[in-house]
Amino acid sequence: MNTSKTPIRTCVACRQKAAKSTLLRIVRLADRSVGFDGSGNLPGRGAYLCRHTSCFTAAQNSRRLQRALRCDLDEATWIDLARDFNMMCQSGT
Ligand SMILES: [Zn+2]
Repeated sequence: MNTSKTPIRTCVACRQKAAKSTLLRIVRLADRSVGFDGSGNLPGRGAYLCRHTSCFTAAQNSRRLQRALRCDLDEATWIDLARDFNMMCQSGT
């Protein structure tokens, strides 16, 4: 339906460019909490990730996500992110 002007974003892990709608957005909110942004419209510093487990793992291991969000992510946050990531990947595109 909407074929015009698809915003393109870059995955922080593999650096592949893809349509924003196919990527997952992770956002750091003003209160410094970090999580997936299901709507894609939350205010805050955002980073994008493919829906591939390999990209999630790479982002975690390389600390690229922390660099993109300019904050440190503790273990509890990673556990939350991993759980949400698996949920969203299983629910399909
Ligand atoms: Zn990727």
